[in-house]
Amino acid sequence: MNHFDYQDGELHCEGVSLTEIAREVGTPVYVYSSATLERHYTVFAGALSTMPALRSPKEEAPLVAYAMKANSNLAVVRTLALAGCGADTVSEGEIRKAMAAGIPAERIVFSGVGKTDGEMAFALKAGIYQLNVESRPELDRLARVAASLNMIAPFVIRINPGVGAGGHAKITTGGAKDKFGISAEEALKLYAEASAHRNLAPVGIACHIGSQITDLTPMQAAFSRMRGWVEALRAEGLSVERLDLGGGLGVPYFNQPTPPNPADFAEMAALTVGNLGVRYTFEPGRLIAANAGVLVSRVVHVHERSDSGQKFLVLDAAMNDLLRPALYDAYHDIRPVVQPANDDAEIYDVVGPVCETGDTFTRDRQLPRLRAGELVAFMTAGAYGAVMGSEYNSRPLAPEVLVRDGRFAVVRPRPSYDEMIAREPLPQWLEPKGLRPRVALA
Ligand SMILES: *Cc1c(COP(=O)(O)O)cnc(C)c1O
Repeated sequence: MNHFDYQDGELHCEGVSLTEIAREVGTPVYVYSSATLERHYTVFAGALSTMPALRSPKEEAPLVAYAMKANSNLAVVRTLALAGCGADTVSEGEIRKAMAAGIPAERIVFSGVGKTDGEMAFALKAGIYQLNVESRPELDRLARVAASLNMIAPFVIRINPGVGAGGHAKITTGGAKDKFGISAEEALKLYAEASAHRNLAPVGIACHIGSQITDLTPMQAAFSRMRGWVEALRAEGLSVERLDLGGGLGVPYFNQPTPPNPADFAEMAALTVGNLGVRYTFEPGRLIAANAGVLVSRVVHVHERSDSGQKFLVLDAAMNDLLRPALYDAYHDIRPVVQPANDDAEIYDVVGPVCETGDTFTRDRQLPRLRAGELVAFMTAGAYGAVMGSEYNSRPLAPEVLVRDGRFAVVRPRPSYDEMIAREPLPQWLEPKGLRPRVALA
């Protein structure tokens, strides 16, 4: 469900025409819907909170910690913060942004395989909910950092449940050879050791098996193993107060299997890992943000090769703006912003202007016939879109626009070329004044 639809033949977001946004802000441009963000959060959190089996001993509903890496724009995070969301973060930058967006520290989780000492210290001093520790060396460093601050670090251990899942090898995280988490055996050992350490407070265990998961079976398998490990730790007399079940629920990218709905997910979680007397955490990213955003781009021209007859739809958006197709062969539905007047269709390779063959959004896609200057929208681009943007080829970062009920605001402006150039100061020995190439060009 999202709030992008055609009105009078033109694609709109919450009543605002994408043509108008493109005219005012330029293209390429990311456009996000506040209503879709809020809806996804409330439907997901609502489904979990109706499950009595997922209540904590203090009757708390699960903590829904939005995985900020999906889309960390401050206005997006603020929108979710005001709806009551927490944050799952993977860097000091994300923790700072979460707090700047108004998410209280006690709703912030810090994940990631390579937290530095400085980042751990920052997180501890900020008083976040917990650190999700992913390895023994990391736990050793956390103990040292906490001791140096004379603090007690609340942490959970991320167990790799040995269940891989997800839409692509690059987004699977639960297999034994993936870099994430540790084996259950090692985790149980670390947990017991840590409980004797005066600066460490092991409060529970965590898992996250992958992303774009469209089938509950692997999640259920992982969750049921988690239940077994909670029981195993308790059998050793250790206390387990929290269970973090990660994110990973998929979204429909148009041509893919329809993912389970939040109600079915919540019911599965309640049946599989419910009633453990813990506080539950869930970390959805894509589920919240993906369908809440589109990338609007303009057709630069259509190039038809005389040798192969292949038609290339060349856009002003490129892999530096939306990396997912190049990185994971991801599929995005591409829609014309203005509905075509007739049924004429063409088979296009849709490409960007970057000097890489990988800068191909899709091959042999049937689309309505398009002409130079017309606008298209990449749907389902709100997650892992703008956040992966770069200035490769010295292309300015695409701006981001947030829409709310008929209004819109630029929430990250496109940098000017002057700003881009000013960001790279020249050392004194390269002072540009009067600088001439030493060897005159012939
Ligand atoms: C990426 C990530 C998430 C979010 O994954 P989605 O597929 O976007 O829901 C949650 N938890 C951890 C630890 C992650 O690395």
